[in-house]
Amino acid sequence: MTYDGLFVDLDGVVYRSEHAVPHAVEALSGYPGRVVFVTNNASRTPQTVASQLMALGLSVSADDVVTSAQAAAAHLTTMVGVGARVLVVGADGLLEAIQECGFQVVDHADDADAVVQGFSPAITWADLAEASYAVARGIPWVASNTDMSVPTARGIAPGTGTFVAAVTAATSVQPVVTGKPHRPIMELARARSHSLNPLVVGDRLDTDIAAANAAGMDSLLVLTGVSRWQDLLAAPAEQLPTKVAPDLRVLDGHTDEMTRALQDLVDGLRAGRDVGPVVDVLHQLPQA
Ligand SMILES: [Mg+2]
Repeated sequence: MTYDGLFVDLDGVVYRSEHAVPHAVEALSGYPGRVVFVTNNASRTPQTVASQLMALGLSVSADDVVTSAQAAAAHLTTMVGVGARVLVVGADGLLEAIQECGFQVVDHADDADAVVQGFSPAITWADLAEASYAVARGIPWVASNTDMSVPTARGIAPGTGTFVAAVTAATSVQPVVTGKPHRPIMELARARSHSLNPLVVGDRLDTDIAAANAAGMDSLLVLTGVSRWQDLLAAPAEQLPTKVAPDLRVLDGHTDEMTRALQDLVDGLRAGRDVGPVVDVLHQLPQA
């Protein structure tokens, strides 16, 4: 691999709930280039994320973490001037990102030059109503992401996308979205890392890999999270990765029969070849 940096997703790649994914810490610690962690989670600050990763044994600073909240704030600087007044519907991570970009936070729709929306478990009807009043005035509206669900210890709960959808339903307006599968978060990671040829690493075809393709970056799908190799067979071209592997050991050059068959599958799908024979091989291999 000739990449000079990694843009790495968190959940399903580095950890699952509070446990490190097998081989992830070793592979990322040994990687010689710049590693940036790229997360759609807009509610936590980069420092909070970095602290969690350090507890797993990684050497990470807040500067190594790019969030969809930071991407939203950075994108807003292209839509309204520095010092503009922004109505923030979200949690600490988004508030901090907005303030770091030089914006003034307001809490009343009539005072706002723009609206930015992200996840918070404390969002109320009054917050969504305030956002709707402001959005209906036609001012810029940026959402950190539109993930419809968020995993919790008790199961699947409504994510940012459901709150964004509520405002869209009320106003018939669509926001600009900066998190994965959209490209702004990857462009912010590129600007942060100065990486010329990064590899995006993720566990989801419809977010991580789609964002990499949208930003024109190569990508690696690891099968330690949501997407399975079978999902590749039904994936549209814009969700096909450059590479696929059972886990992050591939970064150290580790390979085996499974890894080679998986890569044959992706190469075949990208080239539009008949992948029937390699699918047969994969079905006969013991599953990773
Ligand atoms: Mg993930």
